Amino acid sequence: MVKVPEGVTLVVGLGISGRAICRHLERLGRPFMVADTRDRPPGLDAFRAAHPGVEVHCGALADVDMRAAREVVVSPGVDPRVAELAALDDCCSESGDPLVVGEMALFSRACRAPIAAITGSNAKSTVTTLLAEMADAAGRKVAVGGNLGTAALDLLAEQPHAELYVLEVSSFQLETTPCLGATTAAFLNLSEDHLDRHGDMDGYRDAKQAIFRGAQHAVVNAEEPATWPDRALPSVERFTTQHPADGEWGIAKHGEGADTWLVHGATPLMPTAAMRLQGRHNQANALAALAMGQHLGLPMPEMRRVLERFIGLPHRCEWVADVDDVRWINDSKGTNVGATLAAIAGIGPTLEGRLVLLAGGVGKGADFSPLVAPLQQYGREAILFGQDAERLATSLRHGLPIRRVENLCDAMQQAAESARPGDCVLLSPACASLDQFSDYQARGEAFRKAVKQMIRKEAP
Ligand code: ADP
Repeated sequence: MVKVPEGVTLVVGLGISGRAICRHLERLGRPFMVADTRDRPPGLDAFRAAHPGVEVHCGALADVDMRAAREVVVSPGVDPRVAELAALDDCCSESGDPLVVGEMALFSRACRAPIAAITGSNAKSTVTTLLAEMADAAGRKVAVGGNLGTAALDLLAEQPHAELYVLEVSSFQLETTPCLGATTAAFLNLSEDHLDRHGDMDGYRDAKQAIFRGAQHAVVNAEEPATWPDRALPSVERFTTQHPADGEWGIAKHGEGADTWLVHGATPLMPTAAMRLQGRHNQANALAALAMGQHLGLPMPEMRRVLERFIGLPHRCEWVADVDDVRWINDSKGTNVGATLAAIAGIGPTLEGRLVLLAGGVGKGADFSPLVAPLQQYGREAILFGQDAERLATSLRHGLPIRRVENLCDAMQQAAESARPGDCVLLSPACASLDQFSDYQARGEAFRKAVKQMIRKEAP
């Protein structure tokens, strides 16, 4: 049995976030040790070399006696409900917080500038990036990161003089955050994801609701009551892709040509056609960023200019190439059913032909049946690969023709044969990538590379 000495902080998990937690504790001068359930977590030797005095326990948490720890800080990848951590549920640290917390708890204690926090099943990275670009365009010193890019705790060290921290926050991070205290917090949408970790939709929603603890202002989805705060907050604003009610952010016809505009209540803001981002879901994303930006005092003209030039992030409904009049789109970040639904609904209506969907991977216990109706409407064929291909096939087979293949490469070869002129081959897997790739970026890169190879083969 390894005993955590009195007054020492235990960091659980030696991944990217765990290392950021260690760096932060080191900067604070707080003694700590590390536990990781893997026998040899990647990067262990380098960590030991960089932190010679720090004890690292590799193996079962049951072998660690944590009762005397000053605090137990868990990485987002570690489930705080495992028995050894759940046993500490009723314990508090001297800060008054629960004994077991995550990185965002340390962040909110140390952060001296306003926080804009964004969560949701989908669109977090897009809205986080949009808002940060808006703040930057308005001349604010802004630091951006969290679940996206640089870990929040590293931002504090790298940009200590930031006037605003814009953070993407995941449900895994939120469930160990007692009070984030955001100046503005957005809960964008909720659809099935991570049920393997949160148990059911209520558990998943509860984790996300933690974004509102201590928040001054909330931005939520008018069409999804699940995103509305459970607690009373000083101010709550809603966005919708419909005609807005009084005070809401929404979409309405405006002007002589009756074009659709982004609006705030009765105030027209900009025509949707002036946005580079495509699809209704991205109009929702723009409205959420505008609502947060306005609360932070960012001028509307600067925010509009960002929407006029922002083309979106890689691997999110990203156009790769047209080959033989077939469009190839990389939506590798479509890692859950809600994202794939948004991709199909965004792209389907714009096509002369139909969609050939490439999907599969780790389904995280999701129900794939919501994909059936839109695929009936817009799909030509679904080509399924990876760990949960069989489960997907069982759900989708009533919607459209199905093929099962081993991997993405085979799926693309098959798609090249099946697609007809005017069609779109859409990689939007509705699943995580970890069975066959290191992450969604690697899956998207493999897709891009294979499309480029097709183009080279075509070239005379
Ligand atoms: P996150 O960081 O929450 O994963 P991203 O901005 O990276 O969000 O987008 C993830 C996926 O969700 C992409 O496939 C994207 O096309 C899709 N998406 C973007 N905005 C929305 C939205 N408002 N509703 C549903 N899906 C969306």
